[in-house]
Amino acid sequence: MPVKEEVLSPDLALTNGKIVTVDEEFSIAEAVAIKDGRFIAVGSNEEIEQLVGPKTKVINLKGRTVLPGLNDTHLHTAMVGLVLAHTQLFDVSSIKEITERLKRQVERSKPGEWVFGKGDAWEPETLKERRFPRREDLDPISPENPVVITAYSSYGRITVANSYALKAAGVTKETPNPQDGRIDRDLETGEPTGILIDEARRFIFERFPMPAASSEMDRVPLKAIEEAILRADRAFVKVGLTSATDPYVLPHEIRAYQNLKSRGLLRVRYNLMPRIEALKEVWSLKGTASLMPGIYTGFGDENLRIGCVKMLFDGGVMFKTAWMYKPYRGEPDNYGKPLMRPEELEKLILEAHRRGWSVGIHCTGEKAQDLAVQALAGAIDEMPEIKVRHCIIHGYFPTEDSLKTMSRYGIIEAIQPKYINSWGESLIKNLGIERASKFKPIRSYLDAGVTVAGGSDAPVVSYNPFLGIYAAVTRRTQTGRVLGPEERVTVEEAIKLFTINAAYSTFEEDLKGSIEPGKLADLIVLDRDILTIPPEEIKRIKVLMTIIGGEIAYRAPTFKD
Ligand SMILES: [Zn+2]
Repeated sequence: MPVKEEVLSPDLALTNGKIVTVDEEFSIAEAVAIKDGRFIAVGSNEEIEQLVGPKTKVINLKGRTVLPGLNDTHLHTAMVGLVLAHTQLFDVSSIKEITERLKRQVERSKPGEWVFGKGDAWEPETLKERRFPRREDLDPISPENPVVITAYSSYGRITVANSYALKAAGVTKETPNPQDGRIDRDLETGEPTGILIDEARRFIFERFPMPAASSEMDRVPLKAIEEAILRADRAFVKVGLTSATDPYVLPHEIRAYQNLKSRGLLRVRYNLMPRIEALKEVWSLKGTASLMPGIYTGFGDENLRIGCVKMLFDGGVMFKTAWMYKPYRGEPDNYGKPLMRPEELEKLILEAHRRGWSVGIHCTGEKAQDLAVQALAGAIDEMPEIKVRHCIIHGYFPTEDSLKTMSRYGIIEAIQPKYINSWGESLIKNLGIERASKFKPIRSYLDAGVTVAGGSDAPVVSYNPFLGIYAAVTRRTQTGRVLGPEERVTVEEAIKLFTINAAYSTFEEDLKGSIEPGKLADLIVLDRDILTIPPEEIKRIKVLMTIIGGEIAYRAPTFKD
């Protein structure tokens, strides 16, 4: 019966591997078979080889390690794409490295063109020169281009501009400091050093052809958003991402995703979180005036779907706007603050929950989190029959109460472990070592029985998920010190954050997140064995091949089977 065999045999088989399935037992297999975009069998070489037919493509993994495709639950795709068109200054260790990378972009640019570099968090201590870059560091490489670089620090959001950019922005010795911002000046001459802090960054960003935050994406035309998403999509598959949640999308970003999907251009699977502001408007419409009120969490398919509705409840601990019970170090009156009244938050959560929306709440301070968790639990108590999976986004400092309630009500924690590494040194300055050590306590969340889903929050930090796994396992800061060693997790636990737990956060745990028969055939091949290498090496892992839905979405030029 050759015809029948042909119908049943797999399209693709991977053999001779160390397949980390991330199933219930975290079992290891040797081989997998894939057909029509799904895993159809997982097992020993012998078992899978028996299934191979004449048309099956077989890839010999030669002992390499395979993981389920990784899933980032907090990734601002279009912003990442915009940043990718410029210079990446994540995880740099010196001013020299910064200027060398920028120089390459300057050389590719026409005179007068803006050159932009994006870093994560810098302190004088994390850079070899033990100071921030200044304009005189940038001027020699860029006499004919405005150059701007941005990063976070314990001093606030910092932007460094070269002399050309300062001139273009009209910033001089005479320019007064804006409210809530500071133009750093040379102590002797009073001339601007090029460092602009917080609101002083406005001088530059008003003239700069790029949004300063994802909340400003409405400035960017649809076509540019599409290009940015596509650029990011191609970068994601290279680091092993096969799924991502975009946590704060505007209507025209959703349109861009759908346009790209209909043209068959997206490789990664996306879950989109619209902003509550967009929904509040349509919910107020009566009757059949709009289609939108009928849509809720889960709308779409496995490639592009609508996830939680996103709300912001407070700011961030780096900006001292996270709403805390205790004041910030050196600022006895500053406890941070909420962005809306708690009653307003409760009302919005009930409105969303009633319509079937899972709610993702950005909250960072312990007080904000306590109130958000209580409000979510209240909605679940009131309407337990509605199937939702609410989620706390960030949740830096959970109290015992929050941990207990989140566990009892199945409220998910969406965490971004790379921050521990990128921001650790800045946090110690803002909060002191004791409080900073409790930052993003993944061990405590897991021990309390909370489902923790991993993400990056790129482009705040790098989107490379292995840096997130590395940070969750080691909790090392940029200077190498371990921030709260008792909160470290195992490699297996860290892998789950970015696979099965992330899938759970979007109701897709039966569809993906592990390598098991029936699930979507999303997997990645690594250049080394994540389960046995020293933890320090996790950050150097390279992806050799990414398979999404049984198709090769990325293959490293060096990978030969
Ligand atoms: Zn974010």
